[in-house]
Amino acid sequence: MTFKCKNCGGYMVFSPERQQMYCSFCDGVDCEQQTGDASLTTCASCGGELTIGQFVSASRCPYCGNYLIFDERVRDSFKPDEIIPFKLGKKQAVEAMEKEFKKRKFTPISFLSEKTLGDMVGRYVPFFLYDFRARGEYRGTGTKVRKWTEGNYDCKETSYYDIERVMDVDYDNVPADASEEMPDWKMDLVEPYQYEALESFDPRYLSGFFGEVYNNTAEAYADRARQKAEASANALLKDSLAGYVSLNPLSGSVSLADGQIDFALFPVWVYTYKWGGRDYLFYVNGQNGKVIGETPISKRKVLLYALTMGGIIYAIMLLIIFIMEVL
Ligand SMILES: [Zn+2]
Ligand SMILES: [Zn+2]
Repeated sequence: MTFKCKNCGGYMVFSPERQQMYCSFCDGVDCEQQTGDASLTTCASCGGELTIGQFVSASRCPYCGNYLIFDERVRDSFKPDEIIPFKLGKKQAVEAMEKEFKKRKFTPISFLSEKTLGDMVGRYVPFFLYDFRARGEYRGTGTKVRKWTEGNYDCKETSYYDIERVMDVDYDNVPADASEEMPDWKMDLVEPYQYEALESFDPRYLSGFFGEVYNNTAEAYADRARQKAEASANALLKDSLAGYVSLNPLSGSVSLADGQIDFALFPVWVYTYKWGGRDYLFYVNGQNGKVIGETPISKRKVLLYALTMGGIIYAIMLLIIFIMEVL
């Protein structure tokens, strides 16, 4: 499918700067969708012969330069549930790269040259977003210590607690990229994306960019998301045990129940830098310009109940140290 300008008939692309469709020929913003005209083997615009990869949903014709969206790769089971449209245009992505790498002294000069940076391409990377409910449980005993001084005495009181924790955490939209070509750890670093910007899928957002469908089933990528949720739930459970001087666990576990799974497309600017016979790949988050990021969990609702069920069993002054007064 392609989008044509109602004004001049030119091909239109989605402009991240304007957040709407845009015709670079006449500055027009009104477009009409033309479906059914993009086959996987022939360019709808110039008739050139195309070789389209197995997972490609949107690409650019190497002959005429027009962007093409392949109908059969954006419908039925391949239709994304949601998409985060590009927020950063190419110019802003280039600026993000320059800002990040300008200070580094040992990069080759051509690394940040206008010519090579101008070759950055905008890609929608396929992600699955998983919902989980995590249950964390902990039973054990713990101690807390209070210290004070009374005259010539240093006093120390140790309190013993029975601890029981039951914690439910709802995770929404834990991401795992579904592209074999994209290195997992780099995609993890390009995150986080702000999910407030998730929109229902509309093929217009693909116009002007490259796109990909998921390369494998949602189950095939689920473990990566499960590990993220599990690590987070474990950390929350551990946080809830802060404040004890010592802990003696009797039992503890985190278990996950699977929930809904959505297929989504996230925007990434990709910069391929060729140097010394190798390809160096850099990614800029197309939503916030982050060149390197941290692994997020989109949203978490923590329901921590039955915080301390046992409470204090007994608290005794355990130790009194007599300090000899030196005269
Ligand atoms: Zn136009
Ligand atoms: Zn063409």
